[in-house]
Amino acid sequence: MRTDSTFDHLNPFSTSKTMPALFVGHGNPMLAISENHYTRTWQALGERLPKPKAILSVSAHWTRPGSVQVTAMENPKTIHDFGGFPQALYEQRYPAPGAPEWAKAVCETVQMTQITPNQDWGLDHGTWTVLKYVFPKADIPVFQLSLDISQPPQFHFNLGKALSPLREKGVLILGSGNVTHNLAKMSLGGSTPDWASAFDQNLKNKIDARDYDGIVALKNQNPFYQINHPSDEHFLPILYVLAQNQGHQHLTYFNDDFDLGSISMRSFLIA
Ligand code: ZN
Repeated sequence: MRTDSTFDHLNPFSTSKTMPALFVGHGNPMLAISENHYTRTWQALGERLPKPKAILSVSAHWTRPGSVQVTAMENPKTIHDFGGFPQALYEQRYPAPGAPEWAKAVCETVQMTQITPNQDWGLDHGTWTVLKYVFPKADIPVFQLSLDISQPPQFHFNLGKALSPLREKGVLILGSGNVTHNLAKMSLGGSTPDWASAFDQNLKNKIDARDYDGIVALKNQNPFYQINHPSDEHFLPILYVLAQNQGHQHLTYFNDDFDLGSISMRSFLIA
C-alpha cells in the first residue's frame, strides 16, 4: 500500500513558475471505475500538485505515423477507445475544456518538427482514466499530442525537450503509457516474469543515473525490449517526461509495482 507521504515535498500552493511533469503507468481502463491503491495514489497526487493552467497529455493511445498533431478543439470528447468492458465504463465522461490557444502556441513555437492542429481526436483513455482521479473537477484545459510512431526514440526525447518551455508558462506535461506492456502475456493474479522485472529495474537504474542516451538506446540494445514492448507506443511517452528532468528537480517514483503479472505500473513525478 502506498501512502500520500510520497508527495510530501510538493506544495499545492507553490508559486514556482515551473510546473511539474508526470509520467503515469495507466494500466487497464477498468481503473476508471474501480478504486485501488493505484487510483488512491493518483488522487493523493492531485491533492498536492499546484494547479496548472493547462495539461498537455502525451498518451500511448493516440498514434499518428508520419505526423505530429495537437488537439485544438474547444471541447474535447471523452473517447472510449477499448472494447468488451462493462457499460458503466462507457458512461464515464471527463468534460475538461480543450486548450486551443495553447495548441496554437505549440504549433507556432516548436521548430524541430511540424506540429499541426487536430479537430477530430479528444481525450483517450490514457488521458482521462488518470486525470479523472488527479484532477476530478475536470476544470483544467487539457490537450493531447499525438505520437509519430514512425520516428525513433531519440526524436521523441528531443520533442519532449522542445516542449519543456511550456512548463515555465504553467503547463503540466503528462506522459501516459506503461514501463512494461505486453497485453498477450498479462495474467490475472499471475506472478511477474523475469523479463518484465529485469526491464523495469534496468529502466529505473538508468533513470536514477540520468543515463538518457542509454534509455533512448533501450529499444535497440536491451534484449527484453521487444517482449515488453511488441510495439513502442506505451514506452514512448516516458521519453517526453524524462526530457523534462534537467537541473535540480526531484524525481519521485510511485505505483512502482506490477499489475496483471507483467504490466509495470511504475510512474514518476518530476518537480
Ligand atoms: Zn494503454
